[in-house]
Amino acid sequence: MSVDSRPVALVTGASRGIGAEIARQLAARGVRIAVHCNSNQSAAEATLSQLAGSGHATFAADLADVAATTRLWEEVVGTFGAVDILVNNAGIYLNHPPLACTAHDWLQAWRLTLDTNLHGPAHLSLLAAQAMALRAERHGSGFGRGRIVNISSRGAFRGEPDAPAYAASKAGLNALSQSLARALAPVGVYVYCLAPGWVETDMATATLAGPDGDGIRAQHPLGRLSRPDELAHAAVYCALDAPAAMTGGIIDVNGASYLRS
Ligand code: NAD
Repeated sequence: MSVDSRPVALVTGASRGIGAEIARQLAARGVRIAVHCNSNQSAAEATLSQLAGSGHATFAADLADVAATTRLWEEVVGTFGAVDILVNNAGIYLNHPPLACTAHDWLQAWRLTLDTNLHGPAHLSLLAAQAMALRAERHGSGFGRGRIVNISSRGAFRGEPDAPAYAASKAGLNALSQSLARALAPVGVYVYCLAPGWVETDMATATLAGPDGDGIRAQHPLGRLSRPDELAHAAVYCALDAPAAMTGGIIDVNGASYLRS
């Protein structure tokens, strides 16, 4: 029996948007993909049907649910044997403007956003890190024992006046990435973080169509928003090509719409 030596990536939220594009580009590089979705299996199957190569599979789990997230990890490992790359991409953006929100809605938005955008990735990262740390070096020199790529946001740095929980969740994801990078580097597990600005996906559609749309477009000196394929290109670089020395880095992918130094 031949053992399949191709790397395996679990990409969360791969049923659409940036996650689907990351799955497509990783598959084009010869990676087997665990295509994760929340509950929209048919959308996940649609992504799966667009992947180059063979040996991919779909999985559904609500990442705001700890038990479901544990089950997801076990199912993915059960199917593929191991995971080499975890891409924490799934996320939500809920509007809850502080001056136009009840205390109940405010707390609901905070709980759901932190559970989905921070606690879910933290839980999956723990499961991945502990499994990866026990493995031998993989896929040639420089790859290490495993890689985690977190999709954060520009909002972590500049604030989100109408979605403070989103900004806080992504600031938490940045700090999680940095902490894990330091904790895991000694065992050869590398952690990278991307901070996109506005990207043309379903998540952004309603806001861009609303009264703030023109102002948002005007923030971009490229004259356009970022595209999902550009985010995916950066994510694939981190997942497969980035040097170990870049572990812990938070990389802006925002078309110079917000620069920090
Ligand atoms: P999207 O809304 O198109 O896709 C998000 C994905 O996450 C979907 O597949 C959805 O099913 C999944 N998801 C949401 N809640 C989930 C849950 N509880 N359990 C499991 N899966 C869940 O969004 P996108 O624009 O592709 O965003 C992808 C990532 O990029 C997100 O983390 C987002 O915060 C980040 N981001 C996006 C933008 C943007 O402008 N689109 C900007 C900065 C950062």
